[in-house]
Amino acid sequence: RDVIADRLNRISPSQTTAMRQRAQALKAEGRDVLAISSGEPDFDTPQHIKDAAIAAIQANQTRYTDIAGTRALREAVARKFKRDNGLDYTAEEILVGTGGKQVIYDAMIATINPGDEVIIPTPCWVSYPDIVGLADGRPVLLPCGPNQGFRLMPEQLEAAITPRTKWLIVNTPSNPTGATYSAEQLRGLCDVLLRHPQVHVLTDDIYEKLIFDGRAFATFAQVEPALRDRTVTMNGCSKAYAMTGWRIGFGGAPRHIIKAMDKLQGQSTSNTCSIAQAAAIAALDGPQEATEAMRQAYQRRRDRVVAALAATPGLRCHTPEGAFYAFPDMTACLGRTTAGGARIGDDADFVLALLSEAGVATVHGGAFMFPGHFRISFAASDSMLEEACRRIRGFCEGLR
Ligand code: PLP
Repeated sequence: RDVIADRLNRISPSQTTAMRQRAQALKAEGRDVLAISSGEPDFDTPQHIKDAAIAAIQANQTRYTDIAGTRALREAVARKFKRDNGLDYTAEEILVGTGGKQVIYDAMIATINPGDEVIIPTPCWVSYPDIVGLADGRPVLLPCGPNQGFRLMPEQLEAAITPRTKWLIVNTPSNPTGATYSAEQLRGLCDVLLRHPQVHVLTDDIYEKLIFDGRAFATFAQVEPALRDRTVTMNGCSKAYAMTGWRIGFGGAPRHIIKAMDKLQGQSTSNTCSIAQAAAIAALDGPQEATEAMRQAYQRRRDRVVAALAATPGLRCHTPEGAFYAFPDMTACLGRTTAGGARIGDDADFVLALLSEAGVATVHGGAFMFPGHFRISFAASDSMLEEACRRIRGFCEGLR
């Protein structure tokens, strides 16, 4: 045990993964478990993207590439930023990593000094506070509840900034709430940031393509070009193109930040897989119909899940504006007892009892630094979601 480094005590294993493992263990015992806990698309990678990977293998694109990714892919990413976001990044201002996760990791480890503060609105993606902790930084968590649309308010940001604030991390659309910032809502945050030149922004736009009800996507450097020199615009292929296993994420940032991230990545993974990079070019430059079809499917499922939850006693659900998650409030269930005799003291008790008594795997809000809620992923088939919602309702109706 002494062999393990102290820094590992600052982080916890991913709790979404822990839930998946628990659900799998029950399945292995022969239990009928519906896993709606996972953060990955249930669709297959579109055919033209798979074809591009196969062609890359046949053409022997199987060697090391530039650490930051092939020039061809970085140019495709530059085209994507221009086309979708109106952002001008050169190939030298782009880095491709092993998933969006590594891009965030690179940015934090490459820039944070001990004690630097990173503002993270909560509920947040599980990995941000841990990555900041690994970088010796101090996560400053700002609760942003459903009463404010799960969005950070400008005055909240203003009040949290100190001379040590180095980063603000914003995720839009959000995992786990689906909350999405309009350009106008980002404008308010940009105005605060303009007054504090020491604060940088990492905007996690990985769910950009999965946005509902005709909303327009917006990102910081587009809304306020003056922030471009202190913004990392992070995005990737995992969610938009159902490519979680391919490990392609990318970031656009000023050259001095990209250079530092490149230096770090050069002493860890080096380039991400050359074959996946070739596939990513096809994803970004190719037809976008498959992404739009997936987006429509998520929106349809969102409508059904939200309607089912509205009819469930003890739950209240804010309507997600993007991504593929719902994050219902379960505080009305606290202090009650399940049909199976379990007492619900907190959101973790709730999801554990829901799994063991109803066979539905979700993730408790505490994993996203926001107790009193739980996360449902609608990256699952319509029939599975329908049955899961029926069971959740039965479970809640059975509370005493
Ligand atoms: N950011 C958010 C908000 C996510 O939900 C995820 C994946 O779950 C990622 C980043 C990382 O994605 P990738 O698979 O590209 O590393």
